Formats: sequence, structure tokens, C-alpha cells
Amino acid sequence: MSKHASPNAVLGEPLTLESGLDALQSSPEFGGPVESLDGHECNDHFAQIYETREEKFSAAIPFVRHGLDRGERIAYVVDQSTEADVKATMRDSGIDVDAAIASGALVFYTVQDTYLRNRTFVPDEMIQFYADATAEANEEYEALRLVAEMSWIEADETPYEQVIEYESKINDLFDNENVLAICQYDRELFAPQVIRDIVRTHPHLIYDGAACHNFYYTPPEELLGADQPAREVDRMLETLRERTEAKTTLQHREQFLQDLYDITASTDWSFETKLEQLLTLGCEWFDFDFASVNRVEPASDWLEIEYVSGDHDEFEPGTEFSLSQMYSRAAVEMKAATSVSNPAEEELDDLPVFEDFGIHGYMGTYIPIDGGTDRTLSFIPDKSRSVSVTEEDRMYLELMGRWLGYELNRHQREQFLRECYELTSDPNLGFETKLEQLLTIGRDRLGLDAAGLTYLPSWDGEFLTEYAVGYGDESGETWTNPSEGCFCRRAIAEDEPVGMADVRGTDWEDDPVHQEHGLTSYLGTKVTSGSTPYGTLWVGSTDPRDREFSETERTFLELIGQWVSYELERREHNESQRVLYDITSDPDLETAAKLDRLLELGCDHLDLPIGLLVSERGNALEIQQLHGTHPDLATGTTPPTATAQYCRRVIETSEPASVTDAGAVEWITDADDVGLETCVGVPVVVGGQSCGTLCFGDTSPRRTEFTEAEHAFLDLMGQCVSYELGQQRRERALEESNERLEQFAYAASHDLQEPLRMVTSYLQLLETRYGDTFDEDGEEFLAFAVDGAERMRTMIDALLEYSRVETRGDPFEPVELDTVLDDVLEDLQIQIEETNAEITSHQLPRIEGDADQLRQVLQNLLSNAITYSGDESPRIDIDAERRGQEWVISVHDDGIGIDPADQDRIFTVFDRLHSREEYDGTGIGLALCQRIVERHGGEIWVESEPGEGSTFSLALPAL
Ligand code: ADP
Repeated sequence: MSKHASPNAVLGEPLTLESGLDALQSSPEFGGPVESLDGHECNDHFAQIYETREEKFSAAIPFVRHGLDRGERIAYVVDQSTEADVKATMRDSGIDVDAAIASGALVFYTVQDTYLRNRTFVPDEMIQFYADATAEANEEYEALRLVAEMSWIEADETPYEQVIEYESKINDLFDNENVLAICQYDRELFAPQVIRDIVRTHPHLIYDGAACHNFYYTPPEELLGADQPAREVDRMLETLRERTEAKTTLQHREQFLQDLYDITASTDWSFETKLEQLLTLGCEWFDFDFASVNRVEPASDWLEIEYVSGDHDEFEPGTEFSLSQMYSRAAVEMKAATSVSNPAEEELDDLPVFEDFGIHGYMGTYIPIDGGTDRTLSFIPDKSRSVSVTEEDRMYLELMGRWLGYELNRHQREQFLRECYELTSDPNLGFETKLEQLLTIGRDRLGLDAAGLTYLPSWDGEFLTEYAVGYGDESGETWTNPSEGCFCRRAIAEDEPVGMADVRGTDWEDDPVHQEHGLTSYLGTKVTSGSTPYGTLWVGSTDPRDREFSETERTFLELIGQWVSYELERREHNESQRVLYDITSDPDLETAAKLDRLLELGCDHLDLPIGLLVSERGNALEIQQLHGTHPDLATGTTPPTATAQYCRRVIETSEPASVTDAGAVEWITDADDVGLETCVGVPVVVGGQSCGTLCFGDTSPRRTEFTEAEHAFLDLMGQCVSYELGQQRRERALEESNERLEQFAYAASHDLQEPLRMVTSYLQLLETRYGDTFDEDGEEFLAFAVDGAERMRTMIDALLEYSRVETRGDPFEPVELDTVLDDVLEDLQIQIEETNAEITSHQLPRIEGDADQLRQVLQNLLSNAITYSGDESPRIDIDAERRGQEWVISVHDDGIGIDPADQDRIFTVFDRLHSREEYDGTGIGLALCQRIVERHGGEIWVESEPGEGSTFSLALPAL
């Protein structure tokens, strides 16, 4: 009959105390410490001394379960407990009791079946019973496990000497058989002497939740012998010694670790100092005389001493050897810590280190360095001295090697990063030079032939080689493009770098990159421009690589890839920003054309086929402008439901939003009418109100999220569009107001002038027909009426002129203000002479404008300056000053001045500060000036104090 198979059973290995300790250690029930045997000689027999029922089962249950799991038979002798109680406890802890009983794996006995089968305890018979049970179990099961409740001893009043004798014999049985037992003693039940003897007779005890060696164990033959006290003293002293030794070894170990820690963790020492201390520590601890760190290259059979501790005739930093001639080769071959104690035995006595240098021992370890030269850490003794190396020494050496490896790798990484940083931050190098150098660094660092950057114009397209180093024939010409290359495909599709040290025999073998160009090892990482996949950055070789690409190497490449991506995005961002500026500042582009160009730019920049400007029209949304084609999108129509939901959200929250998979977004509810799966947009704000969105999209979901720079660019576009639409709205409003004004002017010129003409002509008629009959008063009244009508005509004309500033002005062209001023002075000749005005002027600039209107402005200002000069004859000065992008032209007078409270009023139509009796005028001159200056994109203002003169200034844009 075959044995019950079990995955945990170790076939052919006897059941030992170790397995019992395992059972306790791995169980949830047994919570306490478990002391391993650690070389202590014990027989397969536990005594458990317990005080509570719980304690008893905390060992028995895991012990049983472990045995059942391993396909062993369990024999359980119940006495204090009932069988039912034990079964119930077993069931509670998940043991399938019924199955175990049914299969015969679990057998219960009473003490009447076993210890007291002859009503009283007969040790030999019991031993025979266990011998039989063991033999029987071993036929069908992996082993026998016993749990026995020993409470019967007390009831039976068996003399303890007898039990001791039995114990000694049963120990012999257990030692040789595949059997393991726990005997359970209730501490309460037995007299202290009995417990003491139980303790003495069991080498391994389970007590108070712990499993431990028993220092008080005395082998039965000693316990019973005549010279018992002397032997016991021996044993006690020996135990003391053993303990002390163990403790010292532990302290020794701790000391080494402490020393190692003190050196490596110091923040004050440099790497070199730490290394020196470490080598010295190693020599002391391992009892070697000389230590070195060596650079090794197995492929070229090369070793170079790098650092040393101690003096040696042959070994100095910088000395080179053939690796195969040194003991270090053993560490390199093993790729681990190793030692040589007997070169002759290990057939190493033909090596020059042995023969020529007389080195008879070695201990060393191998330290692989990512992207750099591997090292060995070696210790050797003085000439002809032999050494022995313990397992512990090797462990310590391994520890030292690990620290050194960590430090050297870190050093290597830092050096690489520094090199890359210095290169990428060099302001004197262009992108291409930097890229080429980075590729070279990457390729050399990974010890490969070639490196390059590929470009994928469209997702379904073919890869093109954009830059490459070492990837070409002798003429320097690059091999053909990688086209469909699955290397590149995988690299661009995955977030992490993708690599294979040797593609032969893998599914990459069919790749044209391997077939046609022979690349056999390859590591690639994706490069993006913003969120758009751009291509791959790769390093590779036609030779297979002797090791896989390490984490650090992958990180190196990823870092270079990130830099390239960053640069590509930055360049594209700058370029797009320049185009954005060109479009928005182009004065010849109409709003619609501008918007179309902006949408096109956005599509290009984000690599999305569709651009939309969606605006609110009443309660509905309408596509105001569209770039790209889509069957469900058209200018002047409502967007599909899902897209409309998206736009609404942007408009309502007035926040940008991006969706890369509309189907998966919970606030987009209409999956049937999605329109665009990818959408990224910003609100359009006009007059402080969010009233539309500028968005870009694609009918398919997008692989990557949009980057921050892309969002920033979109924001900028949104602002430009908002400004453009705002400007359009403002211009419309202005146009409308101008139109209304002109309508009014039309009314004024026609409707008002008509009755006015009538008044004037009837007044003239009155004068010619009846002038003679008027008395003096009548003539005076008539003169007032004529004057009034005349003044009204002047005012109507002025108003008409005022209204036509915008609509009837001439187009702007360069105007010499000096010439304009000359003309004005000529026109005002009579007024100047009459008032004896003194007018000085400085050189005036040339600006862009309407010469007639500017002449009107200067004329009004000068005429006012003469008029409001007060009693003295006017003194007027005209000058110009450049302020930033503007020219400020000022007319200073020393006239009556203006109260600051009135300074705003004077620019209002018909508003005057004086009566006609005081000063003649219509009150429209300055209003006209203001309107003209505003048409020129400028400003007009006055600075004045009553009696101190006034300065009227106009700021006009410089050419
Ligand atoms: P008016 O035809 O009355 O001169 P304006 O619009 O040219 O109309 O000027 C409005 C008012 O501003 C004037 O009535 C006058 O009170 C005041 N004003 C204009 N220029 C000057 C000045 N150079 N000095 C003092 N007051 C001035």
C-alpha cells in the first residue's frame, strides 16, 4: 500500500524534534518563543508542563495539525480530557477530525488501552506498545506523532523512579524511530518533586507558552547512577560554560556589526576613508594581512588594483593583472563570497599568485556595478601563511561587499547624472549636439554599439530614424528606418523601458530590426512631446549581451528619454506660443480667420484632429467655429449630447476640463451620442462671463493624459480667444454707438438745419424789408436773433463734425506733427497777432494718424490757450516727450487755469466754465479733441491750477 502522499512531507527524512518546533513556530495558537535546537542533541520527545487547559492545547493542536498536513499518523492518548473534548477543540481550530479518523490518520486511545493496559503501568510493555504502533504507522504513514496526557501517573501512584527508567528507554526508542512525542503533565496534579524529575528527564520542554532547551536535563543514566551529585555538578558547570560561550560569540558578532556600522554610517568620513577603515577592519577580523578592491573585466580577462589597505610588494593601486591568474577569478566565477584555504587541493597552485607571489590563501567577494566596471573585494595573508575561513567570516565579507556595492553603484549613478546634467544644462550647446552626446554616453554606459532616437509620425505609421550614433555603415550612413519594428512598438506603448539582452529564440527574433540590421540586444524607452507619443530612444548592439538590463540601466535610459521629451515639448511649446502671438497680433486678420488659425494651431499642438469654439446661444449651445471634419459636427449646429455635456461643464464651472475616454466618465451620461471621446478645453470668458468653450478632441480615446504645459498652453489660447471675442464685442458696440451718433448727426444736419435756415432767412427778410422801420431796440433784438441763429449753426456744424470723427476720418498714415503745427500757426495768425501771443515749440515727432484731425486737435488746444490767457498776452510752449511706447505732446500756457474740480467736465460736449460774455466759444472743442485722440488709440488730459496756467497733454502711440 502506498503511503499517504502529502506536499509537506519530506520523503525519507525521519520525523525529528525540529519538525515539532516548526509546528509550534508556524502556528497561530502557540504564541510564545520557540528556541531552535541549534546543534543541541535531543531525542524526539517533548515534555509539556501546563497549568491551564488552553496552554495544553496551544501546543497539542498545532502539533497534530502539522502532523496531519505532513501525512503522518497521530496517536492521541486521552486521560484528563475526554475524547469528545479533544475532537471539539480540534474541529474549532479547523482540523477535519472526521476525515482524519475515517482514514485512520488520527487514532484516540485511553490510558486503559495504553499505559495501564494491565491495570498497572509496566514500562517494558508500554515500550513494546509504542514500538509496535510506530512500526505499524510507518508502514502506511510518513511517521507517528504521539500526544499523551500523563495525568494517570498520579492516579496510578507509579513510583517516579519507574517513570524515569521508562523515560530513558523510550528515549532510546524515539531516537532511532520515525516518531515524535509530546507528553503532557499538569503542574497542579503532581507533587513538586515529580515535576522536578520530569524537568530533569526531558531535554526539550514546552512550558508557559515557550519551547526551550532544558538546562536542567540530566541523562537518565546519570540521574540514577551512584555518583549522581558529582555528575550533576559537572553538568551544571558545563551548562554554565556553554551559555557563556554562546553569549561571547554573540557579543563578538555584535561587535563586528557595530564596528561595521560605525564605519559605514559615519557622516564625517569620505568614501575613501570609510573604505580604508573597512579594509583594516576586515584584515583584523578575518586575520588576513592585506586587502584590496579591484576592478575586473571578465570578458577581457583583466583585473586592476584600485584601493589597498596595507603594504604589498606586488599589489599597488593601478597595477594590472590577468584576472585568470588571480584568486579573484573564483569570486567572479561564483559571483559571491568565496575563499581559498588550500590552493593545492583546489588545483590553484599553478596560478602565478601562488607560484610567484607565494600567496597561500584568499577570501574575496564579487561586486557587480550597474553601468560600470565590476569589482572584487579581496583579502590575502602574508607570504606562505595559510589561513582558515569560517562560514561566519564569509557572511561578514558578504556584508562588507554589499555595502561597497551599494556605495560604488551610488557613486556610479551620481557620476552619470552629473555628466548628463552638465551636458544638458550647457547653454552653449544646441539640442542636437546634446542629444548626440547623451546617446553616446548612454550607449557607452551600457556597453553597447549603438543608440538612437526614432520618430513615429502617426500612431499607425512607421518609425523613422531621427538621430543615431554607431548605427550605420562605415560611410556614416544610417541603416534604414526601423519601420514596423516591434522593439520600438513595445517601447512606445509601455510606460517603463523595454529591453531584451538577447532576442535570439524569442518572439522578437522576427523583428526586421534584428533580421535586417542584426540588433540582438535592445533597450528602449518612449519619448513624448507633451502628451503625444513622439518616438523611442534606444540603445542596442548586434552582439547579445551577457546580462539582463538592470534597474539602474533602465533608469539611466528613462532619464535620458525624459530629458528628450522635456526638450521636445519645450521646443514645441515655444514654437506654438510664437505662432499664437503671430496670429493674435496680426492686424489684417478678421476675427473668424483668427479663430480658425487658432483652432488649427491647437489641433497641431495637441495632436488632435478636431478643434471647436462652442458658444451659448440663449439656452442652447452652438458650434461657432470648427476646425477638422466630423460627421456629427458642423458650424451653426448643436454639438452631440455627450460633447455638449462636456462643454456645459466647462462653461458652468468656468474651469478647464479634460476627458481622455468619454465613455468612462461618470458625468457624461449619453454614451450613444458621444461625438468626441477625447476632449480638452478651456472656458471662453467675455465681459467677465463664461459664455463658451474652446476645445479640442478626437473620436477615439487618448492613451495619455494631457501634460501641464499643454494645459498651460490651452489656457493661453483660451485667453486669446476670450480677448478676441471681447474685442469683437467691444468693436461692435462702438460701431453701433457711432452709427447712432451719426444718425443723430444726420438728423441734426438735415432736420435741425432746415428750420434754422428758415429762421435765418426770415430774419434776413425781416431786416431787408422792415429794417428801416425798426427803432433802436428793434434793431438790437434783430441783431441778437441773427447772432443766436448764427451760433446755433456753428454748434450744429461742430456737433456734426464731432459725430463723424470715427466714421468719416481719413485712414492713418505717417504724419509730421511739426508740419501740422506750422499749418495751425498759420491759420491762427490773426488771433496770434491780435493777442500778441508768444508761441515757442520744440521738435515734434512723426506719428501714425489722420493729419486733418490732428491739426484740428492742435488748433483747438492752441486757440484755447490764447483765448483763456487772462489779462496778460499769452505765452505758450509746445513740446514732445517720449514715454515708453508713446509720445506725449503738451501745450503749456500761463493763462487763467482751471479748477481741478472742473477738469473732467471740460471734455464734455457743450460744457463750458464761462459765460459767452466772458469768453466766446461753443464748448465742443475739447470734446472733439478727446474723440480724435481716442480714435488714434491715445489719451488726453489736463494739469492745471487756477491762475497758474494749464498744460493740455496728449499721449499718442509712437511709430
Ligand atoms: P470752448 O469753445 O468753450 O473753448 P472747449 O471745449 O474748447 O470749449 O473748452 C471747454 C472749456 O474749458 C472752456 O469753456 C474753458 O472754460 C476751459 N478751457 C479750455 N482750454 C482752457 C485753457 N487753456 N485755460 C483755461 N481754461 C480752458
